[in-house]
Amino acid sequence: MKSPDIKLDSPLQFIKGVGPKKAELLASYGMETVRDLLLYFPRFYLDRSSVTPINKLKIDQSATIIGVVKAHGMLYGGKGRRYEAILEDDSGAIALMFFGGVHYFAKSFKKGNIYAATGRVRWYNGYQMVHPELERLEEESDKMIHAGRIIPVYPQTAELNKVGLNSRGIRRVTSFVFEHLKEEVPDYLPATELKKLRLPVLNNAIRKIHYPETAEEIEISRRRVAFDELLAFQFLVFARRRRRETVEKEHAFGKAGGTVKKFIAALPFALTEAQKKVTTEIFRDLRGKRPMNRMLQGDVGCGKTVVAVGAAVYAVENELQVAFMAPTEILAEQHHRGWERELSAIGLKSALLTSSLKPAVKKEIAEACAAGEIAVLFGTHALIYDYVQFERLGLVIIDEQHRFGVEQRSKLHAKGENPDLLVMTATPIPRTLALTLYGDLDISSIDSLPPGRLPIRTAWRSQNTVDKIYKFVIEQVAGGGQVYIIYPLIEKSEQLDLENVEDAFERLSQAEFKNLRVGMVHGRTKTRERDKTLREFREGNLDVLMSTTVIEVGIDNPNATVMLIEHAERFGLAQLHQLRGRIGRGSKKSTLIAIAHEPISDIASKRLEYFVENSDGFKIAEADLELRGPGEVFGVRQSGLPTLRAARLSSDRDLLESSRELLARLFEKTENLDSERLELYNYLKRKSEKSAVMVGGG
Ligand code: ADP
Ligand code: MG
Repeated sequence: MKSPDIKLDSPLQFIKGVGPKKAELLASYGMETVRDLLLYFPRFYLDRSSVTPINKLKIDQSATIIGVVKAHGMLYGGKGRRYEAILEDDSGAIALMFFGGVHYFAKSFKKGNIYAATGRVRWYNGYQMVHPELERLEEESDKMIHAGRIIPVYPQTAELNKVGLNSRGIRRVTSFVFEHLKEEVPDYLPATELKKLRLPVLNNAIRKIHYPETAEEIEISRRRVAFDELLAFQFLVFARRRRRETVEKEHAFGKAGGTVKKFIAALPFALTEAQKKVTTEIFRDLRGKRPMNRMLQGDVGCGKTVVAVGAAVYAVENELQVAFMAPTEILAEQHHRGWERELSAIGLKSALLTSSLKPAVKKEIAEACAAGEIAVLFGTHALIYDYVQFERLGLVIIDEQHRFGVEQRSKLHAKGENPDLLVMTATPIPRTLALTLYGDLDISSIDSLPPGRLPIRTAWRSQNTVDKIYKFVIEQVAGGGQVYIIYPLIEKSEQLDLENVEDAFERLSQAEFKNLRVGMVHGRTKTRERDKTLREFREGNLDVLMSTTVIEVGIDNPNATVMLIEHAERFGLAQLHQLRGRIGRGSKKSTLIAIAHEPISDIASKRLEYFVENSDGFKIAEADLELRGPGEVFGVRQSGLPTLRAARLSSDRDLLESSRELLARLFEKTENLDSERLELYNYLKRKSEKSAVMVGGG
């Protein structure tokens, strides 16, 4: 029953070339009707201008190439099997490498086939792309490209490919749809708004997205769809904020009194102006009628913890309990250990709850907490388990909040009756991203470091000076300093020709560093052992800690003054900065040496230069966003960011701002909106009710 009369609401199943099986698969990607399919945004476009001749490729560049399969086959040896296909164009050849799904690839490649491959170029005994995105072209589409046509390439997965819904398959369906579609895609944005925004009407944008004639058409149409995505997501943020503004909390705070004063007076240092400013903001929120929902952000080492503990003391003074959650055992322990004495000196009982405690101990702590005997409970995600209950949880503090999933954060939050919420992050977030992700949170920023910190000397060295660098390490240790050395890999890899921490540990602790006390941790070290090693390092019983990036979060060892980063050319800017935050935490001069290995791409050297010259985390975060795109920005991946298909947070700031401006108007006087805008509001509301995405903290 294939009707040629297609409507926007027609189920995809009845479209020519789809059928029940494909329809079911498409539905699992959120596409049930023709309308959904039309909003399926291409991943990229192929045209002559986007294709790079193979001999013009540069290492680390992301590029699309088109070529003919010259040879292909399985390779053995080393650690395992891999599949290789040689793709050739008029200018040269490159190897496409596959380490997973080799049988699938072995079956699909045929000599003489034409492929477009998109991926990052690397060098490993020659130019390669590893697991590039592939688009098999027919002679036909190849000719179309050479005739100057632009071909959309849709997101692809093995499942979709299997049922013939690769890009070609999708193109076939969309072309059929456009031929037979009997109605236009209605626009829910009022014409006056579109005019102001200089965006095309939706129907045109959608057509051009699938059948563009020029690159300009793609861009203007992409911006239209991007605006809609951002608008829908920001609606959730606005709605959430509105909902929160109607909640009143059960508990109330009096003026800050004696306990808070005693706490501050007993600190071994004076709070900085920046710390005082954010403390005032937080205390004001706490006294308010509505629950606080605030993010405290500030560069690594700026002193967020003391501010959070101050807020905890204020809450306890008002007869509330506080939960203080950190992402790792070592960090939770560090917080507890660092503050236990100060808290008990002013009569506050604190405790630490982590998964590795004995069950009996956990039970005892949970019982004391439920009875209200523990004022401040520090812990890891162990805090969110059901057996942990509070008598009167009034304040939830979450450290390094981007390390937690949305669900974990809200589970802890749900243990109180509308408790106040303070989340902290040391990953400075560019403003656009902050608004997108946390637009419903109020933000406090600590914008300066405690006094007496010396700037960290950062240098970038090439790998052939490593002997000198090791000598420097030995001198520093002789002078009482401690050293981190960071590696990109745990063990030797078949796919990546990089230094790894296990081999380096073997080698260096036998040779160059044989007179030093050297420890090692990485992502596969057992928690108990890792914590033990980190503790030894912190207590000064190790001189050198060799590690992967597992130490990037929050470890505080003021005596560590040197960090080497091996293969610094491989790391993103924000991550380099985060790593650097582990040193320079005390009053001694610290040095970071970024060791770069050849070949170093243009982007990598730009990154390193920027890193060496800049120490401001916010600037670095912005630059990182520019250089890598939002999905890659450190820590954002698991934070609840919706899939933005068309929007690009680094270049679409203006769209984000205008979507918020429009929403502010819709929300400000929802009762008095004209009919067009009321329709828009209701449309977005209906849409948001379908969406399960949660944002923010609570
Ligand atoms: P982060 O913001 O990265 O979590 P921390 O709270 O761990 O930073 O603080 C880093 C270090 O700075 C800690 O050792 C802390 O005791 C110290 N510190 C915090 N505030 C001050 C201050 N006002 N003066 C001096 N040292 C401070
Ligand atoms: Mg911290």
